[in-house]
Amino acid sequence: MAAELHTVVRARRAVVGGAERAAAIGIRDGRIAEVAAYDELSAPDTVVLADDEVLLPGLVDTHVHVNEPGRTEWEGFATATRAAAAGGVTTIVDMPLNSIPATTTVAALAVKQDVARDQVHVDVGFWGGAVPGNVGDLAALHEAGVYGFKCFLLDSGVAEFPPLDPSQLLAAMAETARLGTLMIVHAEDGALVREASGLPYEGFLTSRPPEAERSAVELVVSTARATGGRAHVVHLSAADALPSLRGSGVSVETCPHYLVLAAEDVPDGATEFKCCPPVRRASNRERLWAALATGEIDFVVSDHSPCTADLKRGDFGAAWGGIASLQLSLPLVWTAARERGHGLADVVGWMSTAPARRVELAGKGEIAVGYDADFCVLAPDEAFRVDASALQHKNPVSPYDGRTLTGTVRQTWLRGTPIDLAADPRGRLLRRGA
Ligand SMILES: [Zn+2]
Repeated sequence: MAAELHTVVRARRAVVGGAERAAAIGIRDGRIAEVAAYDELSAPDTVVLADDEVLLPGLVDTHVHVNEPGRTEWEGFATATRAAAAGGVTTIVDMPLNSIPATTTVAALAVKQDVARDQVHVDVGFWGGAVPGNVGDLAALHEAGVYGFKCFLLDSGVAEFPPLDPSQLLAAMAETARLGTLMIVHAEDGALVREASGLPYEGFLTSRPPEAERSAVELVVSTARATGGRAHVVHLSAADALPSLRGSGVSVETCPHYLVLAAEDVPDGATEFKCCPPVRRASNRERLWAALATGEIDFVVSDHSPCTADLKRGDFGAAWGGIASLQLSLPLVWTAARERGHGLADVVGWMSTAPARRVELAGKGEIAVGYDADFCVLAPDEAFRVDASALQHKNPVSPYDGRTLTGTVRQTWLRGTPIDLAADPRGRLLRRGA
């Protein structure tokens, strides 16, 4: 059997089955064919990790705004997937908004897939969008392979992606329940959010209070109950909203910025820290960590949402709300996680296995037989200083510029071989169920 393998990767430390162990991974045709003890298996091509490296499954980031076509000056498939590869992320799922057209019809999905196809360095799946008036499009989008549908409950920031009101949410979730697919929701209640302006961060923070998240989460939970639909809350910031999710079956993600940053540390006028919902106080951040530890928060994804540098300027009312962190997600979360006593297996669970399972990304999120041989080779003790201008995403804006992080991604593998950013892109477009 072993003679048929194409490649063997030996690692003194690998995250396999939710724990760290020494392992040899046998790869055949881009998939993991065997997982064995360190000195077992042989193949024509054997790769031995350095003693300071750990083999992780490639990270799975189900919340990325690529923005192409239509706002390609904000980001694009080439630059976003380069950032992903540089950050150990081997699968992304693209959000349906900020591109033009928004992914709310099959025709719009086809437009996006056509521009993406030849320029992706990692695998890319797609979310569809649920907007007023397109309930009739959801079944065809589902058939076309989207992983579920995203909706907003308040202004999304772009005119072509309007929010659903409660009755529209009910109708859309009745349809996603019928299809058996996931509805993912930006959960802030517009009635509890005020227009922000000015330079003090405090003004922006108080304009989007925790109650706005809690109220919207309660609507998602009650609508999921009423329809029997599967639902997921994206980018939770307010720990106050967590009790409303308990026992509901509605899953929830948070993001590196909510786990790493704190309102107390945001300088006035520092709009590179603006995102919606906002980064809250350090005490809230620690409650998010506690909820991750207990499994109350299901996973961690980037919500990579870039724009051009000029749109990120102005006061907290005018600046675009979004943080670009695809390339830094792993070192950000790892640096903060280890300070709180977590291991790499925890981080892999939050950033690879759990999102892949919830979003049903077949063959992703684990080092196990039958899975794609997608890996991140991490040097977990090596520190580096973030230089925003050296990151791979298109516009060099980052609230993490100058910050020292621990955990260097040395190599990222896609289907059995390391990704070479100088070579032709090898990523594939993924379809649900394929
Ligand atoms: Zn987002």
